[in-house]
Amino acid sequence: MRSIIAMCIVCLPLKSLTVTSPFGYRSHPLTGKLDYHTGIDFRANYDTVYAVLNGVVRSVDFTPNLGMAINLQHGELNTIYGHLSKSLVALKDTVIAGQPIAISGATGHVTAAHLHFSVRYQKRYLNPLNFLYQILKITDHEQKF
Ligand SMILES: [Zn+2]
Repeated sequence: MRSIIAMCIVCLPLKSLTVTSPFGYRSHPLTGKLDYHTGIDFRANYDTVYAVLNGVVRSVDFTPNLGMAINLQHGELNTIYGHLSKSLVALKDTVIAGQPIAISGATGHVTAAHLHFSVRYQKRYLNPLNFLYQILKITDHEQKF
């Protein structure tokens, strides 16, 4: 019997969200060069990371930039969680919104521990904050947060 109960249709990736680096063009914190940031950085210090939507684990891998990263597939949409210290899921696992999927960390190209969060629709990166805001607005009448 499954003991996980879905608490939300859309969940936030962390218990509380503080943006430390925005989406889009910025000067890179390490190189100082103009850089296109494909996601958003949230303050996180080895905190639990949650799946934002129901989905399937498409990859759990390690790259020099993002460190340990989890890519979740939600139809044509992907959410990506980077710089993790520990994954709590495995490839092809089914996850539900609000399920703990990882512990954040400081792996990859970082100055300090934080969570990198990207939202990709097909091949395009979306602004994750706009995405979360829009989707929370749509489901607002169906649930309480
Ligand atoms: Zn980032």
